[in-house]
Amino acid sequence: MSIIPYIGAEEIAEVVDSLRSGWITTGPKVKRFEEEFAEYIESDVQALAMNSATSGLHLGLEAVGVKAGDEVIIPSYTFTATAEVVRYLGATPVFVDSDPVTLNIDPKAIEAAITIKTKAIIPVHFAGLACDMDAIIAMARKYKLKVVEDAAHAFPTRYKGNLVGTLDTDVTIYSFYANKTMATAEGGMLVSRDPNIIERCKIMRLHGISRDAFDRYSSKRPSWYYEIVEPGFKYNMPDICASIGIHQLKKINIFHKKRTEMAQVYDEAFKSLPLTLPARSLGIVEHAWHLYAIRLNDEVTLSRDDFIMKMSDYNIGCSVHFIPLHLQPVWRDGYALTPEQFPHAEAAYQRIVSIPLYTKMTIDDQLRVISAVNKTLDHA
Ligand SMILES: *Cc1c(COP(=O)(O)O)cnc(C)c1O
Repeated sequence: MSIIPYIGAEEIAEVVDSLRSGWITTGPKVKRFEEEFAEYIESDVQALAMNSATSGLHLGLEAVGVKAGDEVIIPSYTFTATAEVVRYLGATPVFVDSDPVTLNIDPKAIEAAITIKTKAIIPVHFAGLACDMDAIIAMARKYKLKVVEDAAHAFPTRYKGNLVGTLDTDVTIYSFYANKTMATAEGGMLVSRDPNIIERCKIMRLHGISRDAFDRYSSKRPSWYYEIVEPGFKYNMPDICASIGIHQLKKINIFHKKRTEMAQVYDEAFKSLPLTLPARSLGIVEHAWHLYAIRLNDEVTLSRDDFIMKMSDYNIGCSVHFIPLHLQPVWRDGYALTPEQFPHAEAAYQRIVSIPLYTKMTIDDQLRVISAVNKTLDHA
């Protein structure tokens, strides 16, 4: 069983339309995708499509003013993209532990890590469960810090009724990588309600050119003329990817409903097993369910690795989110990180397994997973 993106006839037809139109890179489809995405998020945000969430995180941090010598607080319990973008700017990632229940960055750990050099915080909404944003936003105000949300897992997630992307932070970035809740093959979206951030990211997204390529070819100005105002990057999304995104976006509420129902099926099936099921923060968060990550309780004698091996004997592919960054050679050795500094991330890592959850999954697929989990735990 692999993670299959849900691509329908509409996405295929729209890609073909772009291919036939002669305009395959950033153009009218990207513009439409951005407008429709911003409309979905509502409120007064603007959206900028990127070739990845990693690019968006880089540009978001740059736009809020992160520079060489600054410190940016991030969880150890995340994907390496969250940390590497800090380094792209010559700043220092400061790794902190997560809450043992939600596995999201622990606000108390953030506060303990703040120094005179701290410039920003990157909360990561693990698996699609929103972080404790009230605490994070309050702290950002108190210490005058920027908040750049890594919402790679969090489309769509609601926190206290409001979509992630509309909270009182500086900028939010979603991922449309192939295995995320909606996919454009590769891609991401940056949203912000600050017009200065949007303007800066727009320029930096395409070589530091002050107008994007499509405008250049469709406006009255001579088509050969442009100005470079910064040494920018090459992070634009092609229309071929936006073609997929336009139709994925139309289906996102159906996808979300389906993922939520699938999570409920798992919750119900596993409730009397020796497993810690995903935190839900009921009444506070509406979960996006990018991942369904279970933890083996102490009474399970099987190791996490053996659990995954047994599951693969039943033809069920599992994964681990995440191998905490404090264990990855580059971060561990570069910043002298030890497991003792991250007791909760470390404990979660030893026992966590992501079991299959993807939009295209059928109830029969789910029943096969449930049966394999039961059989695997019976061995233990
Ligand atoms: C997937 C992911 C990213 C990066 O997304 P890309 O679109 O592949 O660049 C960043 N952060 C987290 C937590 C992710 O899971």
